[in-house]
Amino acid sequence: MSKEAMKSYGYQIVDALVEHHSTQNEKLPVALGSREEMDSLFLEEAPEEGTDPTQVLNFVLEKVMTTSTLMSHPKSYSFVPGPSNYVSAMADTLATGYNIFSGGWAASPAAAELEIVTIQWLLKIFGFPKKKGGGIFTSGGSMANLTALATARRIKCGDDFSKAVIYLSDQAHSSNIKAIRVLGFKKEQIRIIPTDIEFKFAVNKLKNCIAKDRLEGLHPFCLIATSGTTNTGTVDPLIELANICKKEGIWFHIDGAYGAAAILSQKGKQLLKGIEKADSLTVDPHKWFYQPYEMGCLLVRNHKHLSHTFTEKPEYLRDIEGNTSEINFYDHGIQLTRRFRALKFYMSLKTFGLKEFRDAITYNIDLADKVESKLRKSAFWEVVFPATLAVINFRYNPIEKNYSEKQLDALNQYISEKVVASRKALLVTTLLHGQVVLRMCLINPRTTLEDIQETFELCERFATEKEQQL
Ligand code: PLP
Repeated sequence: MSKEAMKSYGYQIVDALVEHHSTQNEKLPVALGSREEMDSLFLEEAPEEGTDPTQVLNFVLEKVMTTSTLMSHPKSYSFVPGPSNYVSAMADTLATGYNIFSGGWAASPAAAELEIVTIQWLLKIFGFPKKKGGGIFTSGGSMANLTALATARRIKCGDDFSKAVIYLSDQAHSSNIKAIRVLGFKKEQIRIIPTDIEFKFAVNKLKNCIAKDRLEGLHPFCLIATSGTTNTGTVDPLIELANICKKEGIWFHIDGAYGAAAILSQKGKQLLKGIEKADSLTVDPHKWFYQPYEMGCLLVRNHKHLSHTFTEKPEYLRDIEGNTSEINFYDHGIQLTRRFRALKFYMSLKTFGLKEFRDAITYNIDLADKVESKLRKSAFWEVVFPATLAVINFRYNPIEKNYSEKQLDALNQYISEKVVASRKALLVTTLLHGQVVLRMCLINPRTTLEDIQETFELCERFATEKEQQL
């Protein structure tokens, strides 16, 4: 491409992005499409001949970008939304545009330094030791959990993990079990501890389980707590769990992929007390630190634990080793070639300042509290689990109707299906103690009470429709 052609192409993309960011709220958040429909749009042989770049771009803007659910939309309430921000999106464009290799010091000292600096910001935010502590940016929370568990196994078990046992609650995110399986643990080595009525780790059951395992000659080596469960935003009793781990010599991992960022708010800070006691902590900036995908992070109490776990010294990397006192991030995690994730975090924090992040997170938590009060005043809605770290679970359950549990499940499932099919909001269900409930995760600072009011009105319309069939 000529310089002029590159400019024109780039400007078209920036124009499209600016247009998207400034009109996103008016768009429908949900995209629907069957495999057949997608095949009919996109399936073709790899083209032998090229096509005019603008033509390809316009096709993509028209067909691909419009057929993708907008996780940054104010009415995307489900799974964990990705609110993102424009500065970080531009930073990612820069990092990709320069194609910076963010693996080793010698290849890109500034990229390595920015990862060190931003990781240090996070270490301070979470009260981890500044000098000894360390961390690494990953593709997301799942990879951060995998990195943590590989490290825990290396440090606590060495090469023989045949007797090792790992503990997590029935509310731990599925990425943890996936990581445990990927690491080669057998079913018999995994203890899923029930949670109490508030969905918190049942500490006494955990203690009994550890004692029993010790009696049987097994090796309890790692415990995974969650600070902000995906279902309800519940924070496990971190201080109690930390004490158990300390006493038992167990690695204490906290999966804070969903909720850890809440530490920037006053309420979150209270709830997350004890988070600083973890041996390793998963944080997921592409969730509540408002970064675009993909950006997860693992923080560790002792950075040497990462290098002990992941260092390999092949001859073909001899020349990029650099001075041995410097950090090569490929020795701190699974990836060798890595994109420059730190840049977006660095640029957005420098641009907005931590205060802006604190305000946004506080707004999110307060918004969920307001939604809870609103629901509690209504004769149609039941709060199934109180707003916690900006997550709220509720169901349509009109007081005077006395519907059976089966009817309520059908009603709420129907509401969610119809809302999603209308494409006007992304609101799906989860199961709490076997009940079908609607779950809103309100981490988008652009979501307003009016958005939520409109969504409830939509839900009530569909509820009335279904009630006529009951
Ligand atoms: N852990 C928790 C508590 C989560 O809520 C999630 C995702 O929602 C993950 C881990 C996985 O993170 P990711 O989707 O970034 O891999």
